[in-house]
Amino acid sequence: KIVFVSGATGFIAKHIIGQLLETGEYKVIGSVRSQEKAELVQNLFSLDYDLSLLEFAIVPDISKVDAFDEAFIKYGREIEYVVHTASPLFFHAEKSIENEILIPAVNGVKSILSAIQLYGPNVKKFVFMSSFAACGTKEFDSVSRNFINEETWNSISWEESKESGYKAYYGGKTFSEKYCWHFVKENNPHFKVSTILPTYVFGRQKFEEDVKQKLNLSCEFINEIVHSKPNTIVDNNLCRSFIDVEDVGKTVLQCLKDNNLENQRLLLSNGRFTLQTIVNEINESFPQLRGKIAQPVYGIDEDKIKTMATLDNNKTKKLLGFQFKSFHACICDTVSQILATEKKM
Ligand code: NDP
Repeated sequence: KIVFVSGATGFIAKHIIGQLLETGEYKVIGSVRSQEKAELVQNLFSLDYDLSLLEFAIVPDISKVDAFDEAFIKYGREIEYVVHTASPLFFHAEKSIENEILIPAVNGVKSILSAIQLYGPNVKKFVFMSSFAACGTKEFDSVSRNFINEETWNSISWEESKESGYKAYYGGKTFSEKYCWHFVKENNPHFKVSTILPTYVFGRQKFEEDVKQKLNLSCEFINEIVHSKPNTIVDNNLCRSFIDVEDVGKTVLQCLKDNNLENQRLLLSNGRFTLQTIVNEINESFPQLRGKIAQPVYGIDEDKIKTMATLDNNKTKKLLGFQFKSFHACICDTVSQILATEKKM
């Protein structure tokens, strides 16, 4: 069974590809922006994986409306499953927020769905990596009377999305997921769609080689705290929800198999945290860092969490039926890999 995974250089995608290959049931075609990147990812997988099960397609720019055509003209008839993860996950644009964040997010989905429709007659399932960002703005999430579940949509407009890089990310995820469901409604396609909406994704990098001075956007929050100073005061107002990267991968694999997950939005969260919660957890779990990094303060994170919207993803938990990794396990995985790589352990 062949799975096409877009954005194969990504933090989450590498875990998805690893989990797919580990089953022994799937062959993966990963899309990357250049031949150079294909070789880099191939080298990472070469140690522990059977490379005959991993191929790459070069898709240089997902902003183009026909971005995925060439890859699907080549491989389309063989592909049974498509997992779309490629999307800009940064908040700073060099020239244009709209061109660098919003448009690639939306056109990426448009172009991959159109390529499947035209050249992927045997595709059975399409899994789209959306985001909690598609459920509501930061402001909406920060009001305790608000309620967020699998039915909730961010009401941000295209104009508002252009106001900052952050808003563009939220808008990009919202408009791209909306497009997905619109496409299903309008075209009644030959494949089924599921969308996955992770909150902040923490956890190990798939490969030690990926543990760089700066990590991917979500894990960088933890990395910064590991490298903080004892007098650092973190922003306790930054309050989000988390999920472990391996649980995101498991959800994708389950979407390929389980027909109950078709036509569902799966909201992945295992609870709230603030930056202070991360500081406290690292101090408790890594005694060798105590006194060297930001200091624990108890209670203020719980107080902040009480001011946030209610996030109810019970429907998703029931549908998936497995226990998400705890905050403690997520943070320990992330931090121990950083420390091991820096040979501090
Ligand atoms: P990464 O930044 O690690 O990966 C993003 C991937 O998208 C990379 O492969 C990147 O390619 C590719 N990409 C970005 N812009 C373009 C473009 N213009 N053209 C072609 N490819 C592009 O992010 P994650 O793995 O963390 O995120 C993967 C997905 O999950 C994204 O859709 C993100 O929105 C979603 N998500 C992530 C969360 C998190 O906390 N990490 C939370 C919720 C959702 P390259 O390496 O070449 O830049």
